[in-house]
Amino acid sequence: MRPLLAVFSLVLCALWQTGAARAADSVLAETVDRFDHLQPGDAVAISGRALSAGRFTCTLKTGRAAPVRAGDEVVGLFFEGEGAMEYVSTDPVEAALVLFDTRKGSGLKAEKTDRGVVVRDTFRRLLWIARGTPVPEVSGAPAASLANSFRKEREKFGRMHAAPLSHDFALQKLNDPAAPLVWAEMDGGKEDLVYELDRVDHPSEALLLLHPSESRDPELRKFLWPVALSHQPVGRDARDPAPPRFLLTAVDVDLTATAGNDAAMTVTETFVPVGAPLSALRLDLNGLWYAQAGANLGTRAEKVRAVTDEAGRGLAFDHRGDELVVALAEPAAPDRPIRVRFEIEGDFLIRPGGDAYWELGVSSWFPQPYLGEQAYTFHAVVRVPPPFVPFASGTTVRREVEAGRNVLEAQVDRPIQCAVILAGKYVTHEEVRDGITIRVATYALENESSMKGLTNVAAEIIAFYRGFLGPFPFGQFDIVEINDYGYGQAPPGVMFITKEAFDPLIGDMNQLSARGIARTFAHEIAHQYWGVAVRIPSYAEQWLGESFAEYCAALFLKARRGEAVASALAARWRRGASFAADTVPIPMASRVYVADDAVQRTEIRRGLLYARGPLVLDALRRELGDEAFLDFLRAYQEGFAWKFGSTKSVAGLLEARTKKDFMPFFERYFWGLEMPKN
Ligand SMILES: [Zn+2]
Repeated sequence: MRPLLAVFSLVLCALWQTGAARAADSVLAETVDRFDHLQPGDAVAISGRALSAGRFTCTLKTGRAAPVRAGDEVVGLFFEGEGAMEYVSTDPVEAALVLFDTRKGSGLKAEKTDRGVVVRDTFRRLLWIARGTPVPEVSGAPAASLANSFRKEREKFGRMHAAPLSHDFALQKLNDPAAPLVWAEMDGGKEDLVYELDRVDHPSEALLLLHPSESRDPELRKFLWPVALSHQPVGRDARDPAPPRFLLTAVDVDLTATAGNDAAMTVTETFVPVGAPLSALRLDLNGLWYAQAGANLGTRAEKVRAVTDEAGRGLAFDHRGDELVVALAEPAAPDRPIRVRFEIEGDFLIRPGGDAYWELGVSSWFPQPYLGEQAYTFHAVVRVPPPFVPFASGTTVRREVEAGRNVLEAQVDRPIQCAVILAGKYVTHEEVRDGITIRVATYALENESSMKGLTNVAAEIIAFYRGFLGPFPFGQFDIVEINDYGYGQAPPGVMFITKEAFDPLIGDMNQLSARGIARTFAHEIAHQYWGVAVRIPSYAEQWLGESFAEYCAALFLKARRGEAVASALAARWRRGASFAADTVPIPMASRVYVADDAVQRTEIRRGLLYARGPLVLDALRRELGDEAFLDFLRAYQEGFAWKFGSTKSVAGLLEARTKKDFMPFFERYFWGLEMPKN
């Protein structure tokens, strides 16, 4: 797909230079408006028609159909009657997942065949719209109007918790008008389904199931929630991460918070188109935030006020469904950086449980592309009213009081993902250990002994990892207490950790709880190597963060807390992995869906990433031998720190070092369902 895309885009670029095309801003607004307001034409009777796109086929047995217009252009048809669909997943990596999710999460049957995994359903209504590929013609004897039925269908699918379909059609028109894009909505069968073939920026095909909210909360029940029963790449091996369409290479945030819920920020972002010119950007940005308000959830808003380019020109944008599409004033040339400035405000500072802190954490709190397109340096200036103290990913440039506000300026010079900002009523303790500034921030109360204890544990773990993984990725490391229980998180240069870690007995390693905290600390600190320095290009590669961090934590426990602690952890892995046995392979962990059973979904996901993954690494260690295994981890860090990692590159480096092909090993244990024996 890449070479094709480049050819089309060059043609597009030439058109623009001759002035034959309209300015991108009006194209975005017009296309979005037209596809938001699709209109059915006169209905006719039809029978025995077949429609197909990619690996998807619809049969319209008998019924009525009407052409569907976006503005003046006929872009598809709407059908009501007796219909059936068939979808084939030919991607071997997702085969087990398609079977599992369909069985556990839908009323449909998926069947393994010579052609791949086949999913079938019937439907009463079908909306089919397409660009870059022929639109099905509608002709026949006049029939009763479909206008009402069409309106109801659109209302229903408009409740899908996702960006509007008009975004995809606008991106197609702006970035690659020759690329096929097909969107089909089906209802009245066993399930409500959406099919999409999108060959624009990340060519793929997907079959989505829409289900009502499992929550009782009225805000969440407004939506229909999509689950991808299948999401297969087009023209690419699913074992390779999708190539980036562009890279986000620098983020500069200037944020001012009020003492209440409000924040205003300016975010300047640098983008570099990869391989082909780019006319529009697709970015994730939360629009709605949820916060507890009495018994139910209330919503908060994050709003984009303006988007401008380097020349100060206002750029057209559309921000809906947590997605922001921006039209550039002219196509950006490949491999040349452009800067875009976003003015954002809203009441999106949420204090969990009314506590005295808020967190802009690992979600899309500023405009950000897909994981595999994030590799940015980060600079932030954060202003908050006292007594709140701000924290951010990166090294502190300055910390001072300015116009009555606590101001933090922080900087990361390496390309990262998932930068965070947090502020709250914190007391901090700072110490330099082996050249690394370790800062422990406790919530609400000064807690001298736990601060010292945690600094010691962190310094011990960092020293251990430096011994075999190489230099610690950051010169400063913040450990921030979160007023909750039971989890840790590891954004770049920061660890969020819940309050059980701040137990004053933490320094006493005879305590069982202290061992648990040491394990959590060891896992979260390892993430600075695995998941931060080595970046994760897609959710399919999450094990490079979770399983590798977990395994390194086990190495720490074994070396510093004794064999018994390490074997207790290994026993936990075997139990955890048994929850995930015979389900789906490790790369599909985050796509597991079991209807109405969030507990089982979580157990399987955890079982794959935090248990089966470490067992695979343990099998690798036994195969290589202890020393060669540690040397390999270090070599991977040397080769892939501050780059995107991938399982294929893990296999490649293993082969380079051992002269043995390791792809069969990962085919069995990573892309396959096999559990290593031990
Ligand atoms: Zn983790």
